[in-house]
Amino acid sequence: MTDQPRKLFIKTYGCQMNVYDSERMAEALGGQGYEQTQDVSEADMVLFNTCHIREKAAEKLYSDLGRLKGQKAMNPDLKIGVTGCVAQAEGEEIVRRMPMVDLVVGPQSYHRLPQMEQAVRAGGRAIDTEFPEDDKFETLRSRPRMARGPTAFLTVQEGCDKFCAFCVVPYTRGAEVSRPAERIETEARGLVEAGVREITLLGQNVNAYHGGEGGLAGLISRLARIDGLDRIRYTTSHPNDMDEALIAAHGEEPKLMPYLHLPVQSGSDRILKAMNRKHTAESYLRLIERIRAARPDILMTSDFIVGFPGETEDDFQATLDLVAEVGYGAAYSFKYSARPGTPAAERETVPVDVMDDRLQRLQALLSAQQTAAQEAMVGQVTTVLFEKPGRRPGQWGGKSEHLHAVHVTAADDLRGQIRRVRITEAAPHSLGGELIGS
Ligand code: SF4
Repeated sequence: MTDQPRKLFIKTYGCQMNVYDSERMAEALGGQGYEQTQDVSEADMVLFNTCHIREKAAEKLYSDLGRLKGQKAMNPDLKIGVTGCVAQAEGEEIVRRMPMVDLVVGPQSYHRLPQMEQAVRAGGRAIDTEFPEDDKFETLRSRPRMARGPTAFLTVQEGCDKFCAFCVVPYTRGAEVSRPAERIETEARGLVEAGVREITLLGQNVNAYHGGEGGLAGLISRLARIDGLDRIRYTTSHPNDMDEALIAAHGEEPKLMPYLHLPVQSGSDRILKAMNRKHTAESYLRLIERIRAARPDILMTSDFIVGFPGETEDDFQATLDLVAEVGYGAAYSFKYSARPGTPAAERETVPVDVMDDRLQRLQALLSAQQTAAQEAMVGQVTTVLFEKPGRRPGQWGGKSEHLHAVHVTAADDLRGQIRRVRITEAAPHSLGGELIGS
């Protein structure tokens, strides 16, 4: 190890679970004398923490790697690694195509990074895309007590057994595994001691969590007892795993925020069956009724895939009908893109111009709903957890209970404070407001 800290640059693609993983990787390499930099040109090690959910993920990785060729030629000591789901899916192919890559590690093995780093520093190459027996979370260093922002992600569950026909997660992240509740509580307490007031519990199928008594609802109620932890969220959920206790928690646990991301993907039963989603449009709608009965002001968001193989205009209309019935506060919608190795990848695709047209129509409806949800907040009082200064002098930005971005003008430093705010204006992607009381 050098006396000067080595510099680590991590580029994170994709979901919040990758954001959490990147943080843990940085912490793991902290023990090897690395500190993070935002400037890739001064890095001693560059990690690309990749995502395989969308099309062209691998192409994006190879073009990012290509851009580092000059830097590696000037500095042969620079070590380059690929982590995450593309690493898992492509393995040694990455090194074959890009021999400048020193290290490839899948999402289940990144706790082995310190040993792998030593191997590459000694001039070797390290590749690990196993699904190891040892539990990576327990092998990782405990989280350093550094000062943090007021919000944090905490992975509680990984992998998925659902095998939706379009999805690579069961292949890249493996079977569902839940972390023991007591260890999650220890990590949450450490985050709170470091200044965190809001924790988002993460899992590919987070509501299938079974690492402690009472499933995810039991975990939420356990964490809600931590003094200083004021807000809890969780994502991403499958409709079939919304059990009664979790629905009830939305009405009974004040620290659980009134926001739920519940992907449906399509409103057509024929397409839901072809997707292997194992629920119907009707069962999804009835589920939302029950959730809203428990917490009437809950803001619902979702994911949609447009142009899944075999989708007809009638199927698409059923999706529009479902959206109209639910009324979403926000949503993510994408054109179907085949992921190699998944069952749907073998099927005949919908023409691109048809997908484009449907996506535009769906997004127009979703965007109108989002605007309506933002505008409905005007005049309401909500609480906001302030995170950082805004762009204008004296401006502070944070998130409301419904996860709306909110900004106010204030003379004081509001970072980390939860304050009551009256919403006075709605813009397309944020709300403006004024502080109430001290
Ligand atoms: S439930 Fe989610 S993570 Fe699991 S296979 Fe389906 S889309 Fe992928």
